[in-house]
Amino acid sequence: MNQPPPTTSELTQQLIEFRDARDWRQFHALKDLILSVSLEASELVELTQWKSAQKFEDEALEEPMQQRLREECADVYLYLLLVAERAGFDIQQAAADKIKANGVKYPVEKARGTPTKYDKL
Ligand SMILES: [Mg+2]
Repeated sequence: MNQPPPTTSELTQQLIEFRDARDWRQFHALKDLILSVSLEASELVELTQWKSAQKFEDEALEEPMQQRLREECADVYLYLLLVAERAGFDIQQAAADKIKANGVKYPVEKARGTPTKYDKL
């Protein structure tokens, strides 16, 4: 039987323990953590380079691409957790707040079925 996945705070705690066991906090300035989010996001984007949208979607459902996608998404996510921890906010709450704010910016009756930016709706 599989264990349930760790919560965001449990993951953050695991990450802090991983970092501190290696004495890496000294290298984790907030701006470097943010840079690392961008670098890892670029590795995620690189997976799609030179592929049509359909080809990539097909590949993403199968190995080995699904594993590579999992790993790069995890890298981005883990750095985001470190950014939030370092800056002292709850990333789950920030994400929930952002979904709520987007709901106000993009009301269903105006935004449904259109990719138009909120200021042009
Ligand atoms: Mg990576």
